[in-house]
Amino acid sequence: MSLRERDKKHLWHPLTQHKIHPEALPIVKAKGALLYGEDGETYIDGIASWYTAMYGHCNEYIIKKVQDQMQQLDQIVFSGFTHKPAIKLSEELIKILPGNQEKIFFSDNGSTANEVGIKMALQFHFNQSEKRNTIIAFEDGFHGDTFGAMSASGLSVYNGPFEDFFIDVKRIPTPNSENIDSILQQLQAIIQNNKVAAFIYEPLVQGANAMHMFEAEYLDQILKICKENKIITIADEVMTGFGKTGSTFASDHIDTKPDIISMSKALTAGFVPMAVTSCTQEIYDAFLDDSVGKAFFHAHTYSANPIACSVALAGIELLSTDEVQNNIQRIIKSHQEFNEKIKKHSKVKITRQKGVIFALDLNIEMDRYGKKRYEIFDHFMKQGVFLRPLGNTIYILAPYVITKTQLEKIYDTILTLLDTL
Ligand SMILES: *Cc1c(COP(=O)(O)O)cnc(C)c1O
Repeated sequence: MSLRERDKKHLWHPLTQHKIHPEALPIVKAKGALLYGEDGETYIDGIASWYTAMYGHCNEYIIKKVQDQMQQLDQIVFSGFTHKPAIKLSEELIKILPGNQEKIFFSDNGSTANEVGIKMALQFHFNQSEKRNTIIAFEDGFHGDTFGAMSASGLSVYNGPFEDFFIDVKRIPTPNSENIDSILQQLQAIIQNNKVAAFIYEPLVQGANAMHMFEAEYLDQILKICKENKIITIADEVMTGFGKTGSTFASDHIDTKPDIISMSKALTAGFVPMAVTSCTQEIYDAFLDDSVGKAFFHAHTYSANPIACSVALAGIELLSTDEVQNNIQRIIKSHQEFNEKIKKHSKVKITRQKGVIFALDLNIEMDRYGKKRYEIFDHFMKQGVFLRPLGNTIYILAPYVITKTQLEKIYDTILTLLDTL
């Protein structure tokens, strides 16, 4: 039996209505920017497998580091024990994070990194005998699928069965030159009428919201008001972190630095799941007390797994190399040139770019998971390109190691799509 057939027997896939879409595509191998199918066909990974494999799939340098670590120390309880990969990773992360970040807390994925951030913020106030229970978030933001993160995600339209169990979240629109004054007023009103603990946001680019982008200067105004009101700011850098916006973190583009930052995805370069929530000394200090109860009682069994830490360390090393930095600049420039070529196309409504993230909206009406979306997906796959349209948005977020020829092939398949629409 083929993998395709065996898959159907016991597997339940994420974000999948199995009655409409019973088939999953088996991938047997990946290298650099390429994915290999069961029958030997290849696909260029135009979204770096959900923005993780930024240094290329099965990167040799990372493999070597992981092999060394696997022979040394595989796993140890991180409550009461410590180890060199976690220590070194905390040191390296603090070097590249915004200057106000001091402490590193480990978990397993982007959702739990945000869950941890939200819990830290709630307990930060609680520990100071101030009960604050409201979270502010952007409309159409996405922060993950665990309960706290899901509550903060405005985007998820399929959350009906769970909504009665959500934490209290108030929403504001993402800012632009026209609505910023009204948003600041809304924000002030929410702060007056609620006990606001935290504001969670994706800085500058909302990945799941079809790569919606907004300006640093307006976000900065929102963050300033939060700071004035002792509202803990949580930057969800799960998608934007590690070079994607043209700087190491999207928060680097913004004057006001967050109190808490969540990271995952490219942190472990597509190899293994891991996440980190960093915070300031001030947040950490609010948990220090003679009473045990003021400590942060959140743990995951695999917290700071040494092998995952060694992957993250190798990834950070690669990110800082001239080779990767030059590749980032090359991709940025290449997207800009492609943009000039297509922005006036009659089938293109609008284009946008931040760093290596490029997106265009098609000039046609489409459902996020409708039939047309799957036709467009198939068009790309037939030509050997894996892009994952979000509604009428097509975006590219390829591994930094993608070659010029591979990138041009992605552009070509987009051009041929536009001509067939
Ligand atoms: C992917 C993503 C998450 C969720 O991360 P998981 O690892 O899938 O749980 C949260 N926030 C943002 C911005 C993301 O892109």
